Amino acid sequence: MDFALTDDQVALRETARRFATERMTPVAAELEAGDVPLSAEWRRQYADMGFLGINVSPKYGGLGMTNLDALLVLEEFAKVSSAVAFPVFESNVGPARAIEHFGHDNLKRRVLPAMCAGEIVVAVSMSEPDAGSALTDLTTRATVKGDTIVLNGQKRWCSGGGHSDGYVVYCRLSDDPGAKGIGAVYVEKDRPNVRFGPNEELMGFRGIPSADIFFDDVEVPADNLIVPAGGFPRLMEAFDLERCGNATMAVGQAAAALDDALAYVQERRQFGKPIVDFQAVQLKLADMAMRVEAARLLIHRAAQNASHGLPSVYESSLAKCFANEIAREVCGTAVQLLGGYGYSKAFPAERRFRDSWGWGIAGGTIDIQKVNIAAALVGRRFNQRG
Ligand SMILES: Cc1cc2nc3c(=O)[nH]c(=O)nc-3n(C[C@H](O)[C@H](O)[C@H](O)COP(=O)(O)OP(=O)(O)OC[C@H]3O[C@@H](n4cnc5c(N)ncnc54)[C@H](O)[C@@H]3O)c2cc1C
Repeated sequence: MDFALTDDQVALRETARRFATERMTPVAAELEAGDVPLSAEWRRQYADMGFLGINVSPKYGGLGMTNLDALLVLEEFAKVSSAVAFPVFESNVGPARAIEHFGHDNLKRRVLPAMCAGEIVVAVSMSEPDAGSALTDLTTRATVKGDTIVLNGQKRWCSGGGHSDGYVVYCRLSDDPGAKGIGAVYVEKDRPNVRFGPNEELMGFRGIPSADIFFDDVEVPADNLIVPAGGFPRLMEAFDLERCGNATMAVGQAAAALDDALAYVQERRQFGKPIVDFQAVQLKLADMAMRVEAARLLIHRAAQNASHGLPSVYESSLAKCFANEIAREVCGTAVQLLGGYGYSKAFPAERRFRDSWGWGIAGGTIDIQKVNIAAALVGRRFNQRG
């Protein structure tokens, strides 16, 4: 077993780290202050630098590298902020992967090269007002009528909602109950009768727009079908990689919080000496480092075992659940160690704390991951409805 990154991976991470810290730190502050998403100009720069579609096949405009390569880059951006990292997330581990794995070739050619070039952003729209953890209760309906698919329904909490150019919409494609009737359809933002609600005001995630989406007899071509009815398990497989991305976003918050705290406690003096000289502070640093390192290892294991494919539900749920939990703790400890500066909006510690909370709800809550983990351990799914 080799825990060392290759020379190429170290170089890739270093390039991403330098670009993200030097160029994106001021941009992160602007996105946070204005609650606006990253501009198309910046996305194109990301694409020029090779940060989008890292693990997407070169046939569709990507770089054909591994999932781990993509996650190494994502963490460096996440350390700067969730908002500047979001296009990296979406293009590497987000909804695009469902399109690449399961979509019609026409759809892949329409969507993926444009996404890898930073020209469009793609979001995933699963949740509904009455279908969150109980995702298979979703009611958005898609009906195939000849060469056309017609959608009706309402979605909620879509990150990128209202801003993204395209949506991977989970919907009901047959009358079969529960998961059996669910598939997914790609819907472009500018299709007639696609409407968006107002931008949600969230606790964190500023710079990542979120809005309800309404579909009223929205028509898309038949090759926008990504997965037909009955394909829900395949969608969930693609989601296993998104979980690793979510975990990486969380670990990025925690790792940056640790870096900031480490610098601060060596500089800040109280009672005539640097506060790092107090043992209570040292213990906090050690606790933070243990958690960050362990979370990162779980993520890297899940990604490495999947290489170019899709991680297992067990490994990706473990990684997400643990990273989500430790990110909240570590970011909270950083706020505490930075004292008044930790609580001030002039510094990023409080933003990281707020964002870290969101990653433990987005993509399936922490407790739902635990249910997945227990199911994998026992070897059967537990009926949540009985
Ligand atoms: C920041 C953010 C970004 C998001 N981005 C997206 C996105 O891009 N696309 C998208 O489709 N959705 C997105 N979501 C929605 C997210 O997936 C849901 O919020 C999440 O799945 C939980 O659903 P819910 O909010 O309806 O909560 P509920 O399902 O109502 O859960 C409420 C509480 O009950 C608990 N609970 C529910 N059922 C069980 C159970 N069986 N066992 C134990 N506990 C249970 C949950 O753990 C939770 O603590 C986002 C949410 C947030 C906060």
